[in-house]
Amino acid sequence: MAEAPMRWRIGGCHCGAVRFEVLAPDEVEAKECNCTICRKAGYLHLIVEKERFRIVQGADKIATYSFNTGTAKHHFCSVCGVKSFYVPRSKPDGYSVNLRCLDDGEVRVARVVPFDGRNWEQAFTAAQGMV
Ligand SMILES: [Zn+2]
Repeated sequence: MAEAPMRWRIGGCHCGAVRFEVLAPDEVEAKECNCTICRKAGYLHLIVEKERFRIVQGADKIATYSFNTGTAKHHFCSVCGVKSFYVPRSKPDGYSVNLRCLDDGEVRVARVVPFDGRNWEQAFTAAQGMV
């Protein structure tokens, strides 16, 4: 999948205030996490290097929530409350994009891989080398 041609895909929050782009191939593998916050939001992760992500609109509308270790920065739109991307604990120098927030037809989710965020330390250790 690494050799698949990539292009910038656009997405955003519900109200349209926050828009972002992520460099991704046509087909991606999503991660679905069962931690306290991801489960409630139904978040589908695409985790990327920071160079593959850019905010195109609404940086001034973004609010941030942190909890537990405080490593993850849960950015959400201060108007509609939707978290379309954030800085994940598993990759604090990159971004996790919510695949559910990409515009229709931007990417196809080929596979959904579970991540046991409820037991974060063990799951993170087990996942090393898989990404
Ligand atoms: Zn919004």
